[in-house]
Amino acid sequence: MSATAAFPNQIITQEQGHFPTLLPTPVAVEQYWRTAAIGGFVRPPYGLVHELEEMKEARPARVDHGRWLIDCVCNGAAFAWVENPRAACLGCGRVWRVKWPTKQTRERGEALLLLRPDPANRNWDPVSESLADLREENKAARRVGLM
Ligand SMILES: [Zn+2]
Repeated sequence: MSATAAFPNQIITQEQGHFPTLLPTPVAVEQYWRTAAIGGFVRPPYGLVHELEEMKEARPARVDHGRWLIDCVCNGAAFAWVENPRAACLGCGRVWRVKWPTKQTRERGEALLLLRPDPANRNWDPVSESLADLREENKAARRVGLM
């Protein structure tokens, strides 16, 4: 079962993203990253590496299929969580700072996305899409019977 199926009424974060493993604190999340490092990360041109690499750059959080993510330079993605200022790509081992919308915008956006019954339709890039855009998308979905 996927995290979005297990937790249908919330936007998935680092806490649930590795379901069935649940990571209830940022400390538990970082321990999970260190465990992943044992298996290694693929970081060209070095190949398999076993160290996380701290990046200075902040990357913007977005919602993809009901999950808060950041995009990584390796074309992978990393679960994000507003409780943790960092997100690790477990493909390449890069650790990024996360840029969030304001608390009010985030909470309102999540509420609009959670009106959509199918997590596959919960997508939002706060950098390019406003709350008004999400409301319009919800209206359009209602008109065609998707909500
Ligand atoms: Zn990566």
